[in-house]
Amino acid sequence: MKIDLRSDTVTKPTQGMLEAMMQAKIGDDVFSEDPTVNVLEERLAKMFGKQKAVFFPSGTMANQTAIKLHTNPSEQVICDKYAHIYNYESGGASFNSGVSCRLLDGDRGMFTANQVIEAINPDAFYYSQTSLVEIENTTNKGGGACWDFNEILKIKAVCDAHQLGFHLDGARLWNALVVKKETPKQYGAVFDTISVCLSKGLGCPIGSVLIGNEDIMKNAIRVRKIFGGNMRQVGYLAAAGLYALDNHIQRLDEDHVKAKDLGNFLSKQSYIKTVEPVETNIVIFELNNDVKEADFIQKLKDNNILIIGMGSNKLRIVTHLDYTNSMHDYLLSTLKGLKL
Ligand SMILES: *Cc1c(COP(=O)(O)O)cnc(C)c1O
Repeated sequence: MKIDLRSDTVTKPTQGMLEAMMQAKIGDDVFSEDPTVNVLEERLAKMFGKQKAVFFPSGTMANQTAIKLHTNPSEQVICDKYAHIYNYESGGASFNSGVSCRLLDGDRGMFTANQVIEAINPDAFYYSQTSLVEIENTTNKGGGACWDFNEILKIKAVCDAHQLGFHLDGARLWNALVVKKETPKQYGAVFDTISVCLSKGLGCPIGSVLIGNEDIMKNAIRVRKIFGGNMRQVGYLAAAGLYALDNHIQRLDEDHVKAKDLGNFLSKQSYIKTVEPVETNIVIFELNNDVKEADFIQKLKDNNILIIGMGSNKLRIVTHLDYTNSMHDYLLSTLKGLKL
């Protein structure tokens, strides 16, 4: 048995998803003539109560496009110090949009409306002009934590008062919606733009979607083209997305149950210092000082289990669609018998 828990992006399409993909009606999406892409985009726009949605090859490109749509070169984006757009998009915000990030010192990737107020630059020519606030739900580096929706509403009020754009990196928004019993429309009503991933918990091989109203999304397809993200007969991939929206959202609960169980189990093991609170499908834990991160990863690898290190003796496990009950049992028994 081989168990890959490095990320929820490692999943392969299920038989049902593959069949949906093979049956997709396709066309050239650069001419807006791929019927399946059009259905996916319309469905997601409607789901979030917005006017427009655009299909992207990656979440990175969807986020980078959003930043470009909201800003001009020299301006500033407010985000958490853990933000994906700052840490894991190869410095793209500065390269593609010429903006800087004002990093907030949040809690597990989440900050408060008051922190935003303090970070907005005064209206003086020698400051960078603040133009966008970006949050992530669930937080990736923050360990899959979910935002308190009331705080999001408070931040929205600050954005309105200061005429700032508000972007949601919703790569794992589906996980938050399921856990918090929230709706896409709630989020659509608050954010100007939302990116969602189909290739994480939902199990598609590829695909993200950027959602917003016509005014802000007017140039989305142009920016996607500039970034080289124009695609042709991608209805096959959009069909995977449609299948996932129908079949793979509610089941995220199963990933959350396994992650919670794993978190509880780990917190009782002698070689563990701490386990961060588990809210969704990500488990971040820290090893005791006398256990080396690389050794721990190697021992699991010797047992056909893959996880990743985050530095500072912290490790990450992500549960997903391809992580079965029997894999879960095998992982727990391996962890129990681990000689370190
Ligand atoms: C995975 C992820 C993305 C986008 O990732 P891609 O690999 O480019 O699709 C964006 N934001 C967060 C928080 C993520 O976890």
